[in-house]
Amino acid sequence: MSSFADNAAERPHGRAQRHGGSAIVGSVSTSYDAIVIGLGGIGSAAAYRLAQRGARVLGLEQFELGHDRGASQDESRIIRLSYHRREYVELAKDAFAAWHEVEAASGDRILTITGGLDLAPPDAPEAIEDYAAAMTAAGVAFEWLDTAAIARRWPQWRLDDGTRGLLQEAAGIADPSVGNPAHQRLAREHGAELLERVKVTGIREEAAGELTVETADGRRFETGAVVLATDAWTNDLLGPLGHALPLRVTREQVTWFDATDRAAFEPDRFPIWIWLGEPSFYGFPAHRGRGPKVGQDIGGRETTADGRSFEPDPDGLARVAGFLEQHLPTALGPTRTKTCLYTLTPDRDFVLDCVPGMPGLVVALGAAHGYKFAALFGRILADLALGDRRAKTPGEGLFSCDRPILRAASTANLVADR
Ligand SMILES: Cc1cc2nc3c(=O)[nH]c(=O)nc-3n(C[C@H](O)[C@H](O)[C@H](O)COP(=O)(O)OP(=O)(O)OC[C@H]3O[C@@H](n4cnc5c(N)ncnc54)[C@H](O)[C@@H]3O)c2cc1C
Repeated sequence: MSSFADNAAERPHGRAQRHGGSAIVGSVSTSYDAIVIGLGGIGSAAAYRLAQRGARVLGLEQFELGHDRGASQDESRIIRLSYHRREYVELAKDAFAAWHEVEAASGDRILTITGGLDLAPPDAPEAIEDYAAAMTAAGVAFEWLDTAAIARRWPQWRLDDGTRGLLQEAAGIADPSVGNPAHQRLAREHGAELLERVKVTGIREEAAGELTVETADGRRFETGAVVLATDAWTNDLLGPLGHALPLRVTREQVTWFDATDRAAFEPDRFPIWIWLGEPSFYGFPAHRGRGPKVGQDIGGRETTADGRSFEPDPDGLARVAGFLEQHLPTALGPTRTKTCLYTLTPDRDFVLDCVPGMPGLVVALGAAHGYKFAALFGRILADLALGDRRAKTPGEGLFSCDRPILRAASTANLVADR
């Protein structure tokens, strides 16, 4: 695959070169090969991969780096090969490889492998067989476990008869508190300029392949490519361009518990897990000195990125505590609850694509399960931003900006708004 660094003469968006140097405002040059907006998990990875290719990169973050108002904070996100579609399983294999590259480059340990257990109660609405079929198709080994086998291996679980488990050994924790700073540090080491507390207020297309990024403090930056990694804030910038996506933002929360037998919840004894029931819950072993963490998947109310509250929802906490009481009775005792934003597409598939008609504007949305892929997304986004059309992601059209469900929902919203 021809990369930016491989053949600089073919740079599709080489504005810095075409301009024969860059104007300087303060210590910041105003012309870049690529600008990344949003330096959470995904934007930080994109900044690194772009800079690694030799591109002149500017990253802009509206808050301080590592702030907790977005989606990529705290110390644990599930990473797993077990998914309902083969395309995701294949993508997850590449994600593991991409994280390992970042670990090697940074010297940091970002992943902790614990194994992963998908649990389907007898009345589970989500077909666990789809997970098994997708892994089989992708050549990933896993093990079926019945209720008795699960209870023998992990007596922490109290499960109804008929509950089935899928154990996949390669799963575990991706740690944003290590992964995000690692990506940011590597980006800077490769020459990227990352600016904190700079809010982007607009993106303009001056001509084909010539974009201007405007900031709240009155600066303007020129570039050939923009990577928009702004998750819950995405439509603030896409809307004025006429390309708003039908996204739903919900305020979710995770809770850490104080287990009576902490050793039984250490990563070597307790795998990450997903409960494929209704409601659906997920959880982690103890990690970085804090006891098992549990959340409900889409258990929160709809909100907006700027209008959300940070107060935990007591009803949500009661649902999680009730689940633990029933199924993990020794993990009781909440010690801390933290809120966080989900940004959902209608089909919950990602967006990794150029905006239709604006090939220099690339959008990334993790659809509330994207952290595990951040290191890989960085690579894919760099390919897209630097014009490598062979960078098509698995599943033709699966992650496109104008797939039918996104177009249909956008049209429905427009009609409803009138
Ligand atoms: C509770 C919870 C649990 C989750 N669990 C998992 C899991 O187990 N596994 C998994 O893979 N994924 C999980 N996810 C999803 C995953 O965390 C997200 O998909 C991913 O972190 C999104 O990363 P991001 O960089 O796009 O978003 P963010 O981290 O929110 O980053 C977006 C950044 O853009 C900045 N920004 C926005 N607008 C502007 C602007 N105008 N100018 C400058 N900067 C701007 C924001 O300040 C923010 O820093 C979970 C999410 C939540 C909330």
